[in-house]
Amino acid sequence: MSSARRLRRDDAVLQEWGRGVTRRVPLSEVPKCVINKVVERDGDGCAACSLMGLTPPADEPLELDHKQPLARGGDNHWTNLQFLCRSHNRGRSARPLDLVSLPAWLRRLARAGALVDHIRWCWHVGLDWEPTDPDVEAQLDALVGEEL
Ligand SMILES: [Zn+2]
Repeated sequence: MSSARRLRRDDAVLQEWGRGVTRRVPLSEVPKCVINKVVERDGDGCAACSLMGLTPPADEPLELDHKQPLARGGDNHWTNLQFLCRSHNRGRSARPLDLVSLPAWLRRLARAGALVDHIRWCWHVGLDWEPTDPDVEAQLDALVGEEL
């Protein structure tokens, strides 16, 4: 298949796939072009962490989330999908993304004394860990309990 034809086919899939479908679909059944579109829009990490300027640790699993939950009539169309880290996905309970709280992985790291190491690691590999929201920064300071 020519790449132009593949693009047209992907576009057709993107327009229609999952629209009005409110049953849970395993990630393995979501077409690649749908995943790619979500990543193109949100980046390839957790949408909530990225909004807060945080970088989840590499071992924190990413999960596919429905902005409008399936149980409340949300569907599987790409416009209703986003990736969240497991902590954010479990803690979100259908709150809007800008109201989600600090993820559980951050509290785990802080308890383990590993938060500072994590932030240094992010710096080391050139990732931006700085919280974009002053409230989040204050919460982080309280978590770490020391100046970085
Ligand atoms: Zn997250």
